[in-house]
Amino acid sequence: MADFLLNYTNPVFDSAFDLFTDSPVWTVHDSTPRILVQLWVCLTVLGAFQYLLGATLNFYFLFDRETLKHPKMLPNQVAREIYLSLESLPWTATVTVPWFYFELVGYSKLYDTIETWWEVPLQIVTFFLFTDCLVYWIHRGFHHPSVYGWLHKPHHLWKVCTPYSALAFHWLDGYGQSIPYHLYVYMFPMYKPLYICAFIFVQFWTISIHDGVYISNDEILLSCAHHTIHHLEFNYNYGQYTTLWDRIGGSYKKPVEQYEKEMFFDKIKKRKELEASGEKSKSD
Ligand SMILES: [Zn+2]
Ligand SMILES: [Zn+2]
Repeated sequence: MADFLLNYTNPVFDSAFDLFTDSPVWTVHDSTPRILVQLWVCLTVLGAFQYLLGATLNFYFLFDRETLKHPKMLPNQVAREIYLSLESLPWTATVTVPWFYFELVGYSKLYDTIETWWEVPLQIVTFFLFTDCLVYWIHRGFHHPSVYGWLHKPHHLWKVCTPYSALAFHWLDGYGQSIPYHLYVYMFPMYKPLYICAFIFVQFWTISIHDGVYISNDEILLSCAHHTIHHLEFNYNYGQYTTLWDRIGGSYKKPVEQYEKEMFFDKIKKRKELEASGEKSKSD
C-alpha cells in the first residue's frame, strides 16, 4: 500500500520539492526523510478527502437531514464534527506513518501476486474476523473510566450522529481503533490490492454506522441501528462489523425500537403513502 501511495504521488512531490530545493534528501525517491514526509502528506490529505467526500455524499443522498432538528443534536454539531475530524487527522497520520514505512521496507506480509483462487475470500473472512475482535476489545477498553474522559468522550459528545461523526474522535482514539488493520498484515499474508480495498471499505463502513440509515435488521451484522444505541446508552454494542463479540462479552443490545419505527425502506414507504394520500385528498 505504501509503495502504491508513493508511486502515484511521486510526480506531484517531484514538482513540489523542485520548487525550493535540489538536495537529494528531498529529490531522491528512496530518501527516508522524503518517504516519511510524503507518506504523512498522503495519509493526511487522502484521509481528509475520503472522509469529506464519503460523509458529504452520505449527508446529501442518504442521511435524513430532519435529524438535525433532534433535541439531542448539539449546536453547530456538523461543523464541530468536521473540525475535530480534520484536526485529528494530521496527528493520526503522524503515528500511522511508521506502519506504512516498515511495510515499505519489507516487514509486512503483503504480497502482489495471487497463486490460488481461495486466497482472497479466505483473507476477506480472516481480516474482518480479526479486526472485528480486536476493535471490539480496544473500543471497550476505551470506555474504562481511567481513559474514557480524555480519550473516548470526544466521540461520545455526539448523542445523535451524522455521517460526519464517523471520524470525529480524539486522534489517539481513532489511531487506537485502527491498529488491528495495520497489525493484521504484519501477522498474516494479504494480497495487496485487497488490503487497499479493505482500507477504503472500512472508511465507508464507519460512515455508514453513523448515518442513521437503518437498512438492516440482521441479528449478526452490526448495523447503524446497533451503533446508534452505543451513542445513546454507552455500554452496549461496542462492535464494528458483527454482534459476535458483544454477545460473547455480554454487551449486546438489540435495537428493537429502531427496527420497529425507523427502518429506512419502511420510512420511505410511509412517506410515499402519506404523499399519495395527501395528493388524493387534494384532488377530492
Ligand atoms: Zn464508544
Ligand atoms: Zn461512533
